[in-house]
Formats: sequence, structure tokens, C-alpha cells
Amino acid sequence: MTNIGILGAGQLGRMLALAGYPLGHRFRFLDPASDSPAGLLADHLAFDYADKSVLEQFASSLDVVTYEFENVPVEAARHLEKFVPVYPPSLALEKAQDRFVEKSFFQELGIPTPKFTINGFDNGFTDGNGFGFPAVLKTRRMGYDGKGQSIVHSQAEVAAEKAVDYILEEFVSFDRELSIIAVRNKSGETKFYPLIENHHRDGILRLSLVIGNVSAELQKQAEEYATRVLSALNYVGVLTIEFFEKDGQLLANEMAPRVHNSGHWTIEGAVTSQFENQVRAVCDAPLGSTNPLGMCAMVNLVGTLPDETSILKIEGAHLHLYDKAPRPKRKIGHITLVEKDVETLNKKLDEIRKVYANF
Ligand code: AMP
Repeated sequence: MTNIGILGAGQLGRMLALAGYPLGHRFRFLDPASDSPAGLLADHLAFDYADKSVLEQFASSLDVVTYEFENVPVEAARHLEKFVPVYPPSLALEKAQDRFVEKSFFQELGIPTPKFTINGFDNGFTDGNGFGFPAVLKTRRMGYDGKGQSIVHSQAEVAAEKAVDYILEEFVSFDRELSIIAVRNKSGETKFYPLIENHHRDGILRLSLVIGNVSAELQKQAEEYATRVLSALNYVGVLTIEFFEKDGQLLANEMAPRVHNSGHWTIEGAVTSQFENQVRAVCDAPLGSTNPLGMCAMVNLVGTLPDETSILKIEGAHLHLYDKAPRPKRKIGHITLVEKDVETLNKKLDEIRKVYANF
């Protein structure tokens, strides 16, 4: 039995605890929001991450700390490291919290990215940005689910933002979006899930598919890139990297030092879920198989919920609700499907579409 502390008590924390209880572990959460989805399952301290005495209280009698949210202040993770092992290491947070630092890190490791720049915001890019327009303007920090980003078509539009804390990226007309989920335990054992095909709308993930439509070369390439990140950070835990696929090449868009929305299909669709493997990794237990059990899909429930009964009537549909109040653009649940072939999977997706058109 391991006492595991988790920074952040959202749906990812909830699913981590749900995966860890059968292994006999105990959980404690720290998250400023008092009505967090994981708070219902375990001991939950509803305080700010910045309060050192709270961090010390949180750490007492814990064996290990991990997180489900990468925007925890780095100083909080560093402070906790004085009392208890924290995985993934705080350096991973540092790299992932700032899009410029993150993309520069990818480039240092020889991992291709879309072209980007932070130079020239003060002069409105009067010297040009080096890759033209349209381009994507993103806040360097705290942007997620399409928040804090916009497509810009001219230098005048960039100048109108008048912000220094932004990164400008080449707009990539990608063929598709893919993510790799890797996991590494303290002893260095490493495993990868198959590349996941992701479909977004308004910057928010709506549908993830694992249907055997990725070449072995692309999988190998993604695993190689993930391995570079894992080694450079001496990483322990689950790591996700999101890519754009363009002309058979992968361009890294961003990474998450945690379990990821595009990996929710693994709960029913893989031998071992990303959540269980995260728990195993931070406890330095042997990792479970990442093999898929069939053709898998995950539909996000964003903003509104479908009629529960209608979903539960669909044979093989697994409904996961996060106990969050519906709000526009908010992820409040998901549905997973695991079928033996793509045709059956598509039929089931059509059945879901009939009662939930929002994906
Ligand atoms: P992000 O917050 O960086 O994950 O972006 C959210 C979504 O916006 C991505 O999943 C893409 O669908 C889209 N996007 C982000 N950056 C770019 C880009 N440079 N070119 C084209 N689309 C992008």
C-alpha cells in the first residue's frame, strides 16, 4: 500500500484514484477548488498550491506525490520535493508550462516542431516573422483547450494584441493530429501506447481513435521522440506528446507531463489503463501491458450531456461522468467503445451521434 498525493483534483485525478484503489493504494488531493471531481473519492485539501504550510501538511505521511495538472506552480513541486519524492520531476513542469520553452526543448532534442518565434512582438513583426501568415498566436502560459490562442492573418493583427507573453507559430495545414502516451517507472522500464488519432473542434478534443491506421514507421518515430524527452528529464510517470502529421512526418505541438484526455480509451480499451500505469510508475511497480484490446474510440462530452439512458442502451458504450456542472466548452464526461472491427465501431459511433451530436 502506498500513500499517493495528487496535485489537482479534477477528472484526471479522479480516474487515477479509481485505478489505484484496486491495487490497495490510498490517495490525498490538493486542489484549491472545493468542489473538485476527485474530492468526492478521497481526502481533499482545498487550499492554494502556493501556501508552504499547506504543502507540508499535504506531504505528511505521503510516500509519493504526482500531479494531474501541469500548471501547478513549479515552486510548489520543488518545495514538496524536500519532503517526499515527486514524479514526474519538477523540471518536466518547467518545460511544459511555457510554450516557448517547450518548443525550444523539443528542438534541442532534435524533435521537429512547427516554426515559431517570440521575437519581434515589440515592433509588431515589422521585420516579418520568418514564416508568413496565417499564423497562430498563443499565450506562452496557461493556454489549453484552444484558450488563449487565435489565428492571425497579418502583422497588424499581431501588433493589435500588443502582448509580449505570446508565441507566434506557423499555421500547419496538417493531415491529422496524433498523440503518443509513454510511461516510464522509476527503474527505467518504459512502455508506449499505440499512436492515437485525435479530432478537435474549436481547439477542444472531441474524438480519439485507435483503429490500427498508423504505420509502424510513424509509431517508431513517435516512440523515438518520446524516449528523447523521457531520458532528458529522467522522467517517471506518464508523458503525452501531441503531434501534427504532415506529409508522413511528425511535428511536436506540445507535451503534457501527465495522463491525458486522448488516453481515456485505455480504461476499457487497453490491457492496462494510462491511469493504472501512472500509479504503477510512481510506485516503481512493473508496468502493465499497453496493448489495445480492439478498435477503440473515445467521445468527449463537452458543455452538455447526452441523455444517460440513451447512451447506456448502446451495447458496449461505457459512460464516464465527472460530476461537473455543465458549462460551455467544459469537459464533463466521456464515452468509450471497444469493438472487434472498425465497421462495428463506426456503427456504434453513429448510434452515439444520434443521441449526442456534439462531437
Ligand atoms: P494547443 O492548445 O496548442 O493544443 O492547440 C489546440 C488545437 O489548435 C490543436 O490541437 C490544433 O487542432 C490547433 N492548432 C494549434 N496550433 C496549431 C498550428 N500551429 N497550426 C494549426 N493548428 C494548430
